[in-house]
Amino acid sequence: MTLRLHNSLTGTKDVFEPLEDSHVRMYTCGPTVWNFAHIGNLRAFLFYDLLRRHLQVAGYRVTHVMNITDIDDRILDQAMHAGTTIAEYTKPYAEAFFEDMKMLRVRPAEHYPRATEHIQEMIRMISTLLERGNAYVADGDVYFRIASFPHYGELSHLDREGLRAGARVAADKYDKESVSDFALWKKAQPGDEKIGAAWDAPFGKGRPGWHIECSAMSKRYLGDTLDIHAGGVDLMFPHHENEIAQSEAANQRQLSRFWLHSEHLADATGRRCRKAQAASRPCATLSRPAMTRSRSGCFSSPTRITGRA
Ligand SMILES: [Zn+2]
Repeated sequence: MTLRLHNSLTGTKDVFEPLEDSHVRMYTCGPTVWNFAHIGNLRAFLFYDLLRRHLQVAGYRVTHVMNITDIDDRILDQAMHAGTTIAEYTKPYAEAFFEDMKMLRVRPAEHYPRATEHIQEMIRMISTLLERGNAYVADGDVYFRIASFPHYGELSHLDREGLRAGARVAADKYDKESVSDFALWKKAQPGDEKIGAAWDAPFGKGRPGWHIECSAMSKRYLGDTLDIHAGGVDLMFPHHENEIAQSEAANQRQLSRFWLHSEHLADATGRRCRKAQAASRPCATLSRPAMTRSRSGCFSSPTRITGRA
């Protein structure tokens, strides 16, 4: 039977065939383990599971990779605040995530790579982007030069003219060439080393930006071109646009043939469930019967974070 999938890249339902006979290589964006997952987050993971099961029932062998983001501004802030390392800080949240997956009977992915264990792959990709002129160093940070990638915005059908015009407003706050350029590498700040969040690189001690994680880890486990890349719809811009720009500029190949996005979980009124709402009705009511375990934290109040640029 012909399988058609709604492809965000084309905006149409396209006939799906993997590149390799009967083997699907699929990458899905995983959790940032800075806090417990709430029901809105879990909706995306259930979508990945449904997709994976459908492919398997359709007769495909699936190699599914889902990253665990264990470096993030929020993680650094919280670890610093708690006087611990990012590894210690994220451990219980990563464990809780896998418990949640088990409780929801989600079939496990083949690989769950962690960002902190793939820094060398990220450094290699950033080095390639610097060599090719797709990236530049500004005051110790490394940025992707969006002007060097003409296809930027194609996935989310972004109006590049609009992006530039809107960007001018805040341009003078940054050392970037253009405000829409995004960070590949962030220079180490005082205290980062102590919490285990600083790595040596040819372009200076620091840590990777969020977007480069997925580009480097999908390449490491699945090669340059994936059959399917999936994520929540909120990741389409800028995260997935940035992944495409980095990977395609570095590898000179298409990152993914199919892009699938799950919608947000909404309550009965159509309002999106966010973490703050998940602590109260009506979102909590939706999940309460399945989430009665005391340490799930699914309904925990969000921790307030003071910003770190
Ligand atoms: Zn991602």
